[in-house]
Amino acid sequence: MSFSPRIAVIGLDCAEASLVFDELRGELPHLTRLMEQGSYGPLRSCHPPITVPAWACMTSGYDAGQLGIYGFRNRRGWDYEPLSVSFSSQVAKPRLWDHFSAAGRSSVCLGVPQTFPILNPPRGVMVASFLTPDKSMPWVHPPELATEVDRVAEGDYLIDVRNFRTNDKARLLADIHTMTRRRFQVAKHLLATQSWDLFFMVEMGVDRLHHGFWHYCDPSHPRFAGEHNPYRWAIRDYYRELDALVGDLVQQIPQDVLLLLVSDHGAQPMQGGIAVNEWLVQKGYLVLKEYPAEPTPPHRLRVDWSKTVAWSEGGYYARIFLNVKGREPQGVIEPAEYERWRDRLIEETQALLGPHGEDLGTLVCRPQDLFHTCTGYPPDLFCYWGRMRWRSVGTVGAGHIYVEDNDLGPDEANHDWSGIFISRTPLANQPGKVDGLELLDVGVSLLQHAGLPVPADCAGQPRLMW
Ligand SMILES: [Zn+2]
Repeated sequence: MSFSPRIAVIGLDCAEASLVFDELRGELPHLTRLMEQGSYGPLRSCHPPITVPAWACMTSGYDAGQLGIYGFRNRRGWDYEPLSVSFSSQVAKPRLWDHFSAAGRSSVCLGVPQTFPILNPPRGVMVASFLTPDKSMPWVHPPELATEVDRVAEGDYLIDVRNFRTNDKARLLADIHTMTRRRFQVAKHLLATQSWDLFFMVEMGVDRLHHGFWHYCDPSHPRFAGEHNPYRWAIRDYYRELDALVGDLVQQIPQDVLLLLVSDHGAQPMQGGIAVNEWLVQKGYLVLKEYPAEPTPPHRLRVDWSKTVAWSEGGYYARIFLNVKGREPQGVIEPAEYERWRDRLIEETQALLGPHGEDLGTLVCRPQDLFHTCTGYPPDLFCYWGRMRWRSVGTVGAGHIYVEDNDLGPDEANHDWSGIFISRTPLANQPGKVDGLELLDVGVSLLQHAGLPVPADCAGQPRLMW
């Protein structure tokens, strides 16, 4: 069969390879049919394996260093100001739909992260993603389509669920199902009513579900809620529903369109948190003028910068920043001593044992080893505690390093590098299960498939061929 250059991508944020390909496979007839018909395999996420910047990396082909986006929030200078959120305006490289627009082709983009605000709308339609503060801001292009999107979505399109780190699990689960169902209703509508050469949607429900419910569903989770808990099958049931929604949507996409299902990263049970700044305080690397009376986030700490060597930001991984003379306003590390300090911190973070004296298998990386270039204000180290089985807690004040509760609210899953890739059209000479697939290669491979020029300096390579 010859294929058109049209492309449809269904993104499932956080869909985990081991669930889709193994554990739940028998529950997912539509996804299984797509796997059997085409090619599939784990899609290795980027550094860091976090929604922002992962989707921007996938859709542009540039790595986080080339984009200068090292996480949801980033430094805006070498000062000590709090990090600020990376919106679409920080993505300075063209993404798939920009290339399609430049070639006079149309796109439908639905909920792709880092598309708010809609500064450079594609030729076609864009519905902004979960960093949209609320619908009083422009969230649809063209704006007059907003009413139609809401109407198709049972009167209220949900950009995201409210506060997914909550103890109100009944509300959260209902909202996730509603959001997903409505997004697929809008997807079906836009597929049918818009002309498109590229269709790219991202569903956030999977991510919210994993973070909110993993410990109810996984007996291997350290805080597993027991066989008879009311949410024991919440993950399985959601994936089943998602499978049906995908099956229904896919019917609408002609067979000659290249159709992919992808995720930006996977997920795993969260063992607990490591209070990285608390640890840096104990080591004497982060010096406070006053130790706080209660757990306090980094930007509210009274830091004595003139004596501080290093500090960190929390999240699913830690970013460690060194206080370097001539770079930070009150830097203390001599530039000639910089690499020695970096090596020392790598050694000491890797040597930090778990609460029972166990080796955590922590992965610590220099950004310069991960990325082609490091634009913007990179951290000095990326630290994945226990390869992200442990999250990183930024607050200081608890008095100990190991914490069970997350400082940002209940969250029982962390990310993993094991996303999914399913192509309804088999990869050339690679039908069935494929290993070694990389997130960074997806966007540029799609560009090549569409016959559009691939920028020469992308970290991703057009290795996928159909
Ligand atoms: Zn994600």
